[in-house]
Amino acid sequence: MKIDLRSDTLTKPTPAMLDFMMKAQVGDDVYKEDPTVNELESRLAKMFKMDSALYFPTGSMANQAAIKLHTQPGEQLIADQYAHVYNYEGGGVSFNSGVSCKLINGTRGMITASQVEAAINPPDFYHSPLTTLVCLENTTNKGGGACYDLEEIKKIKAVSNKHGLGLHLDGARLWNALVAKGEEPSSYGELFDTISVCLSKGLGAPMGSVLIGKRQFMDKAMRVRKVLGGGMRQVGYMAAAGLYALDHHVDRMAEDHQRAQEIAILLKDQTYIKSVESTETNIIIFNLKDTIDGASFANYLFENQIAISDMGQGKLRIVTHYDYDKTAHARVLDVLDRF
Ligand SMILES: *Cc1c(COP(=O)(O)O)cnc(C)c1O
Repeated sequence: MKIDLRSDTLTKPTPAMLDFMMKAQVGDDVYKEDPTVNELESRLAKMFKMDSALYFPTGSMANQAAIKLHTQPGEQLIADQYAHVYNYEGGGVSFNSGVSCKLINGTRGMITASQVEAAINPPDFYHSPLTTLVCLENTTNKGGGACYDLEEIKKIKAVSNKHGLGLHLDGARLWNALVAKGEEPSSYGELFDTISVCLSKGLGAPMGSVLIGKRQFMDKAMRVRKVLGGGMRQVGYMAAAGLYALDHHVDRMAEDHQRAQEIAILLKDQTYIKSVESTETNIIIFNLKDTIDGASFANYLFENQIAISDMGQGKLRIVTHYDYDKTAHARVLDVLDRF
C-alpha cells in the first residue's frame, strides 16, 4: 500500500467522521441559517475567548479575508520570508488587498519583536508604504513545523500596540502547536486581533478553515467572504467534520509528533543525510548530502511506494498525519534505514 507523506492535507475522512457528517442538520449558511456551521463558529469563538468566528472554504481565503479586514490598498504588512500568505496564496495579498509585504529573514519562519519593530516604516515618511499589519504563522509551514515561544508573541503584541498595527495569526497548524506545547487556545485569543485555523490539515476534515477575531474586524468579514466567493449554502455537512475533528482528532496529534520525531532521529544517523532541521511537530525537513543524487533517492522511495515532498533548493519534506499509522511508520523507518 502507498504511504503518502507529502502533506497532512492528504487524509481521508474516517468512517466515524463520515457518519457524523451525514447526520448534520443544515440550512442556508449565506442566510446564517445553517445550525451546524453556526455551532462550529460559536464553539471556536468561545474556545479562543474571542468575539466571533466565520467558516471559510479554505485557509487561504480566511487569511486573505483577514488581510483585507486589516488593511487599505497601498499599505504594507510585515511577515517572515517563508510566510504562507506571501509564498503560497497565489499573490493574493496584492491581488485582493493591494498590499505589499515587508519580508523578514527570521528563524525557521518565525520573527522577533525587534525584527518587527525595525521593519515598520515611519508613518510620517509618506514616501514609503504605511505599515498596518503584522502576520505571524504558528506552526510554520516552510519553517518545518516550528512553534513560536508565546513570550515572543507577547513582545510582538506590545510592538504592534505601540505602533497601532493589526496582528493576524495564520494558525493553519495552530492545533499542532497547542498540542506540542500544552498551550490553551485562549492564550492566543488574548494576543491576536484575528486568527485563522485549518480543519483540513492535522484535524483531518475534508475542507474548511475558520477565521476567529475581535468584533471590530469581524463585523465586515461576511461581506469580504462574499466578495471573495466564499459564501456557501448547506455547508453544515462539512462543518460537522470540523466539529467531529475538534472532539476526536486534536489530542491524537501527539502521535504524529512522536512519529515525526522518530523519523528525524533515524534520518540524522544516515550516511546520506547532510542535515535534519529541528523537528517540533509533524513536519520533518531535511537535506541530502551533495554527493547523493536526489533523483535516485526519490526513485528509491517511489519504488517502495512512499511519497514525500521536494521543496526545492535541496530541501525534502515529510509530514505525518492520522492516515499514517503504526504499520506504515515501521515500514518507513525500515525503508529510510536501508537506502
Ligand atoms: C495549508 C496552509 C494554509 C491554508 O491553505 P489552504 O490550502 O488554502 O486551506 C495557510 N497557512 C499555512 C501555514 C498552511 O500550511
